[in-house]
Amino acid sequence: MNNSYKAAVEQLEDVAKLLQLDRKVVKRLEQPDRIIRKKLSVKMDNGKVREFVAFRSQHNNALGPYKGGIRFHPQVSEAEVKALSMWMTWKCAVAGIPYGGAKGGITVDPKELSQGELERLSRAYVRAIAPFIGYRLDVPAPDVNTNPLVMKWMTDEYIKSQKSKVKSQKLNQLRATFTGKPIEDGGSLGRTEATGMGGAIILQQVAKSLKLKAKGTTVAVQGFGNVGYWFSYFAHKAGFKVVAVSDSKGGVYVEEGLNPEKTLECKEEKGTISGCYCVGSVCDLRHGRPISNEELLQLPVDILVPAALEAVVTHKNAAKIRAKIIIEMANGPVTPEADKILASRGIISVPDVLANAGGVTTSYFEWKQNLTNKKWNKEKVLGELTRTMQKAFARVWNIYKNKLKTRDQKPITMRMAAYLLAVERVARAMGN
Ligand code: NAD
Repeated sequence: MNNSYKAAVEQLEDVAKLLQLDRKVVKRLEQPDRIIRKKLSVKMDNGKVREFVAFRSQHNNALGPYKGGIRFHPQVSEAEVKALSMWMTWKCAVAGIPYGGAKGGITVDPKELSQGELERLSRAYVRAIAPFIGYRLDVPAPDVNTNPLVMKWMTDEYIKSQKSKVKSQKLNQLRATFTGKPIEDGGSLGRTEATGMGGAIILQQVAKSLKLKAKGTTVAVQGFGNVGYWFSYFAHKAGFKVVAVSDSKGGVYVEEGLNPEKTLECKEEKGTISGCYCVGSVCDLRHGRPISNEELLQLPVDILVPAALEAVVTHKNAAKIRAKIIIEMANGPVTPEADKILASRGIISVPDVLANAGGVTTSYFEWKQNLTNKKWNKEKVLGELTRTMQKAFARVWNIYKNKLKTRDQKPITMRMAAYLLAVERVARAMGN
């Protein structure tokens, strides 16, 4: 069994025990409702035809249409998309949005393909899965190595494939079959910053619940891409002291607190984050020092935010983490073994299914706008996002604080609390 899928099944089994779920329901939730496996034939620039393996896993739709991204990566496998689709079911249920869970992918290294080849591959994928998707059925979105442009190609191909079957006045609604589209093609304002901002809202809620003042609470963020940057930006704006950020080449540590906006400007100018020690409006070499990504994880900070890769906190470094709270902005940054070590050390890990749910929540707002033919302004999108994240946090925190105990009498973790909420909601919607 693939590691991610094994972990997903184990988590489900643990929660099922606590909820005393019927075995039949557990067995049903362990497998996706449907797994689509297709071979795609794509004409390459040299005139030859190459075959690719592609998947779509539709895990569960008890709460609404299947929802989840499409990833282009050499490691995409059937087991991986199965695990990711299950996690999407839990994420949507935790966020309280009316979606189920799905995930798709193609086993490919997109960096080896030209733009034209990538477009033909994206279109071939949609033709293969078109009978199984739709705005009331399954709503894909971008994921690793896919972006608004890929969504634009996919939406266009999907609409072409459905034209003869749908009345012309309904054609516009077909755009709602994909989210994460460019703004001019029906995408939502606010989607770019949504995931990072959602995480910063969770940060504020945790701090409030633990009576931590933003001022003086230190934060280290691994990853300075879309999620890491916007998380840092909104955390800084809320008064937290962001002392470290990093990208794939390493990071910077600024003890007195850095300015994320200036740091990004500096990184873009220099092409690297190294040396970008930006305090206030000045970036000055005397303000900080370079750090490695491993050092960043072990800094003496209050809050650690992995916002880049999966499995960065493992059994090897979990004992060395000095933060009191981890906010999982990446998907799966803490391994199951590390989770146990962190819990035994009293470190709270806010799970990815809650912390990074701002992205899928805003996708839901995009879908709603497309279906009602309306365009929300950014203020409305971010206001709705704030309310949704606050509500989701309150529900999970409530379960966590109720001091439910696992079978071996240990208090449950926040991850377990989020899963309890999600699995219970899904099982109830399935009629159990
Ligand atoms: P991104 O490509 O914009 O940024 C990734 C960042 O990670 C970059 O700064 C990159 O330099 C850095 N990075 C890469 N390898 C690294 C390494 N070895 N060590 C440290 N940093 C490294 O991606 P993103 O959209 O910001 O996504 C980040 C994570 O958040 C992923 O796990 C993704 O699945 C998850 N996520 C993203 C969204 C979203 O809306 N973008 C939603 C939910 C979850």
